[in-house]
Amino acid sequence: MQKGTIGVTTDNIFPIIKKFLYSDHEIFLRELVSNAVDATQKLKTLSSFGDFKGELGEMNVKVSIDKKEGTLTISDHGIGMTAEEIDKYINQIAFSGAEEFLNKYKNDANAIIGHFGLGFYSSFMVAKKVEIRTLSYQENAKPVMWSCDGSPEYTMSEIDKKERGTDIVLYIDDENKEFLEDSKIESLLKKYCRFLPVPVIFGKEQEWKDGKYVDTDKDKIINDTTPAWTKKPTELTEEDYRKFYHDLYPSLDEPLFWIHLNVDYPFKLTGILYFPKIKNNLDINKNRIQLYSNQVFVTDSVEGIVPDFLMLLQGVIDSPDIPLNVSRSYLQSDSNVKKISTYITKKVADRLQEIFNNERKQFEEKWDDIKLFIEYGMLSDEKFYDRAQKFALLKDTDKKYYTLEEYKTLIEANQTDKDKNLIYIYATDAVAQYSYIEIAKSKGYDVLLMDGQLDIHFIGLLEQKLEKSRFVRVDSDIIDNLVRKNDKTEVSLDAAQRNMMTTVFKSQIPTLEKAEFMVMFEALGEQSQPVIITQNEFMRRMKDMSAMQPGMNFYGEMPDSFNLIINTEHPLSKKVIEETEKDCHAEIEPIQKEINELNDAIAKLQEASKGKKDEEIPVTEKEELRNKEKEVDSLRKKESELLTQYANKHKLVRQLVDLALLSNNMLKGEALSQFIKRSVEML
Ligand code: ADP
Ligand code: MG
Repeated sequence: MQKGTIGVTTDNIFPIIKKFLYSDHEIFLRELVSNAVDATQKLKTLSSFGDFKGELGEMNVKVSIDKKEGTLTISDHGIGMTAEEIDKYINQIAFSGAEEFLNKYKNDANAIIGHFGLGFYSSFMVAKKVEIRTLSYQENAKPVMWSCDGSPEYTMSEIDKKERGTDIVLYIDDENKEFLEDSKIESLLKKYCRFLPVPVIFGKEQEWKDGKYVDTDKDKIINDTTPAWTKKPTELTEEDYRKFYHDLYPSLDEPLFWIHLNVDYPFKLTGILYFPKIKNNLDINKNRIQLYSNQVFVTDSVEGIVPDFLMLLQGVIDSPDIPLNVSRSYLQSDSNVKKISTYITKKVADRLQEIFNNERKQFEEKWDDIKLFIEYGMLSDEKFYDRAQKFALLKDTDKKYYTLEEYKTLIEANQTDKDKNLIYIYATDAVAQYSYIEIAKSKGYDVLLMDGQLDIHFIGLLEQKLEKSRFVRVDSDIIDNLVRKNDKTEVSLDAAQRNMMTTVFKSQIPTLEKAEFMVMFEALGEQSQPVIITQNEFMRRMKDMSAMQPGMNFYGEMPDSFNLIINTEHPLSKKVIEETEKDCHAEIEPIQKEINELNDAIAKLQEASKGKKDEEIPVTEKEELRNKEKEVDSLRKKESELLTQYANKHKLVRQLVDLALLSNNMLKGEALSQFIKRSVEML
């Protein structure tokens, strides 16, 4: 028997392994099973090159539990190890800079295992004693047993073992008894070993007999050794792809599209990515892309490997260039990983382009579901934008789809304004903005439907990217202003009239929560509505954006700002203007005259004291100015009260305001029922 001390430079690795690796104890099983698979694959390779001439026999890996002994055993029929090899591969562990590294990564077992090549030693996270019983494939090799109880001392001795290969026997310690439970081991094998390339046996197939399940004598294989992504696309049918998707995510709907990845250079990567039909956020978080390394499950948090916008995809990526046991920080800085991310982005774009080219109709049908991915990608990745702008679609309110180029061609003739800007008109809610959409359409304009989660940002992006192009929401201005083709018709109201009518109309706008109105006048012709409400594009966008970004509440708190536009050419508004003038003239004119005189006097006083310092202005003059200003205020107030009283009685004013509110979906509750009552009275 040989005795020795494991070759580590730090005093003792075992306390470190046991103490530092609080989390992820379970990955020991992944490490041991994948070692067994490696050993199996190595022998197959040797055999195929003729370097091993013996019988391969049944090449599988078996995991078994002995409850009585308290052991978990992983057995393979692979290359095995000679005593010298155990010495070399197991006893000698390079172990430098350990303290610092361990402190940094004490919660990341993957990092530690990866950094020190401790795959095998991870067994000490759960075992108080570990035995290796192994017989090498080499001719005349002697079977050996290595045993270690968690101190740096080990023993090695010859044993009796007939079968080639290795058994790793773990004497599970008291704190980790769960790893002696069938159900626990089975679920771990399903998680990490589900697609390993060598059959992994755990227990027996069961059958229903005499009212209960009983073991048959058939071994239960827990893995699929040739999952879809390892096959060539030409070997797979559409059904195969769908089936694989449902195997991965049993509870989800049919996928929309899939992309088979297959690259050899400059890195090796295979996989299948699916575009899911997303129903809710829960689906996204639960059913993520799974990362494999040579068919061994590594992780399903693929941040850094897959570009952010593709994290919403599903499926499998397998790359031996992504090491099994790596830490997050390593992944993010690794140049291979970066290349992989770029490659995936390109592949996804190519595939979408291909579907767009060959199956445009299908592509359009699925557009609403994939739009989120594509807009997200275009927003977050310049290169993806360049590719996607050829197949990204705009959908209009008639449910027709156009590429950016096609849409430009469609609207160019009719929606270019006098300054040669191309105006994209859009709606965010086809029902609420119905009347505006209809008006725009009657002008021959096309109205886009931009009701997606990211559309507000996407619009901003397109305005940056597309030359001389502007997006305006269909209700952001009166129709003639949306696409201004000629200079405006002058409004034939003087300042006094504007003043008067502003007060009259403003007094009849019901108080709405968080809404502010400005009264404006436009000469829009007899055919347009008498009163129209629009919402300022800039302010609205700011508010919409802030609603999506926490911490930008400033805009969110501001009221919505609307314009109440009086069409001075419509007979009804004309009527209101004329009647108000007629009915109020006698009372208002003297007030206005007085205000004008006072204002003149104020202007004179201000002129006189211009350039003077405060102490140089006589006190009497200052007093006079203050008094005159007060007088103007109170006259204005009086004027406003008179006009409001008048407007209160003038049903038509309120009726026009309400009609405008109504077509904007803003007339609600009591105001609405008053409107209905008034309408009946007026009929
Ligand atoms: P790694 O797998 O990264 O090399 P491990 O600590 O997991 O590191 O294993 C160390 C070495 O021990 C392996 O490289 C291999 O040579 C040997 N080894 C481990 N398990 C087996 C096995 N089941 N059969 C043959 N050799 C093994
Ligand atoms: Mg290993």
